[in-house]
Amino acid sequence: MTATTSRPLTKILIANRGEIACRVIATCRKMGIRSVAVYSEADRTARHVQLADEAIAIGASEPKASYLNIPVLIAAAQSTGAQAIHPGYGFLSENPGFAQACTSAGIVFIGPSAQAIEAMGSKSAAKEIMQKAGVPLVPGYNGEDQSPEGLLAQAEKVGFPLLIKASAGGGGRGIRIVRAAEEFAAALTSCKRESLSSFGNDHVLLERYLSSARHIEVQVFGDTHGQVVHLFERDCSMQRRHQKVIEEAPAPLLTAEQRASLGAIAVRAAQAIGYTGAGTVEFIAEALPDGRAGACYFMEMNTRLQVEHPVTEMITGLDLVEWQIRVARGESLPLTQDQIRCHGHAIELRLCAEDPSRDFMPSTGRMTRYAMAPEIAGEVRIDSGLREGDTVSPYYDSMIAKLICWGEDRPTAIARAQQALAQTHLAGPTTNLRFLSRLLALPAFQNAELSTAVIASHQTTLTAPRPLSDQHLVLAVAAALQSGPWASAGPLSPTAHTPRDQSPDPWSLPNAFRITAPAQRSLRLSRDAEDWSVTVQWAPLAIGLGEALDPIDLLPTESPRQLAVCWRGQVLHGWADWERQPTVRLHLWTEDDDVLLQWDDPYATGQLDDDAEASLTAPMPGQVMRVHVGPGATVQKGEALLVISAMKMEFLVSAPRDGVVEALLCKEGDIVTEGLTLARLAPLAHAETPTPVKN
Ligand code: ADP
Ligand code: ADP
Ligand code: MG
Repeated sequence: MTATTSRPLTKILIANRGEIACRVIATCRKMGIRSVAVYSEADRTARHVQLADEAIAIGASEPKASYLNIPVLIAAAQSTGAQAIHPGYGFLSENPGFAQACTSAGIVFIGPSAQAIEAMGSKSAAKEIMQKAGVPLVPGYNGEDQSPEGLLAQAEKVGFPLLIKASAGGGGRGIRIVRAAEEFAAALTSCKRESLSSFGNDHVLLERYLSSARHIEVQVFGDTHGQVVHLFERDCSMQRRHQKVIEEAPAPLLTAEQRASLGAIAVRAAQAIGYTGAGTVEFIAEALPDGRAGACYFMEMNTRLQVEHPVTEMITGLDLVEWQIRVARGESLPLTQDQIRCHGHAIELRLCAEDPSRDFMPSTGRMTRYAMAPEIAGEVRIDSGLREGDTVSPYYDSMIAKLICWGEDRPTAIARAQQALAQTHLAGPTTNLRFLSRLLALPAFQNAELSTAVIASHQTTLTAPRPLSDQHLVLAVAAALQSGPWASAGPLSPTAHTPRDQSPDPWSLPNAFRITAPAQRSLRLSRDAEDWSVTVQWAPLAIGLGEALDPIDLLPTESPRQLAVCWRGQVLHGWADWERQPTVRLHLWTEDDDVLLQWDDPYATGQLDDDAEASLTAPMPGQVMRVHVGPGATVQKGEALLVISAMKMEFLVSAPRDGVVEALLCKEGDIVTEGLTLARLAPLAHAETPTPVKN
């Protein structure tokens, strides 16, 4: 096919951050195009800023002030001489106003037309268009009547369980499951509130809820010459909170007819709106017990590059960002439908800074350890937005990297992904790394019995802590001697490292035990309700896990955090991280496990405040969205006090017991850090005049 280049593009500004900004920069470099990164205050030193040829500051850390600030982004493109803007995904990628603003300023928007974005931007409007184009839809209601009574009446017709979805929603937000009519009103209010605050509009639609469903989507591409092709399908059924965790291509266990029909419907859908560039048509299908898919219904169309586009790249051998740029330059699609081939199987894992055992609560902080598995061309690919030492900030998405593996077949791709995870070593914020390994190991996943219910139904298996081994205890003691509370106790072994940080307590406590020079010392390590007792002997160094003492030897390592300890004729390896506040905790991390242990040392200070329960602290860094009570309010156990929003989620802070709000230390709009005291509750009896003040 001959390329008709109408627009020379020599410099592209990437209006995004994180891994996707880095991803786009890589293709620009390959194509000989200069890249311009933009950055908020929090991202001044971020990886995408370092990788780009140029970088320009665009404002404060809050997305509204920077990555969502249209005039500032347009001005940044103009001042740097970028002829085009790539929006990445998320942020402004599906904002028709942004596409239009680019066009009006004479800048090429690397994406579909503002009209196409607009047409698909509302899930309700999109469903209407698709209905007319003869595309099957999930039974539901997507009409104009938005009154609570009208919607309830429609809900009764659709039947329960059903979903209320924000028409403008995305990223799994603005979705509520309603299992019975009595829950409807409250769910509607909360869905509308979230939608209004996150998407600026509170229009909703109703859909029958498929309790065991498969999410199957088709990658489409259109050019400005009227051609539309599809690049096969992906299965994204492994989800938590309606958000994808694992994606793969091609979708397993589809019949040839299903595959052909999905591709054809997706192309028809894209043609119906004169689509150009990369897009994804999402379908939902009933998941059959043997893993196959039942009837497939159109769900929505995403008018942008998708997070999971790399799995399509791996099975087709194509670079979708390159295709986007070529289409934006006015070229024809590089291949026709019958030239596009699918080879092997690819799987993508989303690595997120979040805690799967705390309902996937996002986690933030400095990545003190960030060693990803080595990449292998064509087999193991890592798309990452972070480097060791970088901080995961509360302002943005919790996804930090994607691990993508290819194999000749599905089992090979899974095996490679498992191997790569074992070679990935992270410390700092909690991540879903081990959760992902366990997910890959689930028989349901291995047998391709995919459904959106898999994660929730295996929650315990996926998140339960593993039993602690003797090896962990030995490594814990080694860590204490090398980089932890006992490191200042002198040269315990010829190779012991000096602590890097000389700050007081509990590290540089005067070591009472050293002054009185006991030959042995007992220590207690705990995790949740479990605890372990360990005896340590100095000179010669030995450890007792039961009756007997076994000699141990600390071997030299590259860094104080890295451990190599010789014990019972074997060398144990690991890495250690110490947390000092509010209590001393050890993050110990081995090739196939991660443990967080409480260090109970009678000499250490900083134990938890007895009164902790009376202080309500922020569960995570974020913004206070709503304050439901005022100072002096009498509250009951479980009553909603505040709503905190961060990283695409809302968290309710509720009263841990009955009491009176003694002090309210935050207001709506405040940015709060994790652990910050938000309010104090006094017991009812202590309250002087319990005046209920609620707003
Ligand atoms: P997809 O539909 O592409 O699989 P999602 O539905 O999870 O992905 O939507 C993409 C989400 O990614 C957006 O909602 C946004 O919150 C988030 N996001 C936006 N920019 C970034 C980024 N640079 N890195 C990680 N996540 C991002
Ligand atoms: P978003 O814009 O947030 O991606 P979607 O409409 O694509 O919203 O839905 C997100 C996810 O929610 C889907 O991938 C699917 O797992 C689940 N979901 C959506 N609609 C239904 C439905 N009708 N029944 C069951 N699950 C659904
Ligand atoms: Mg979706």
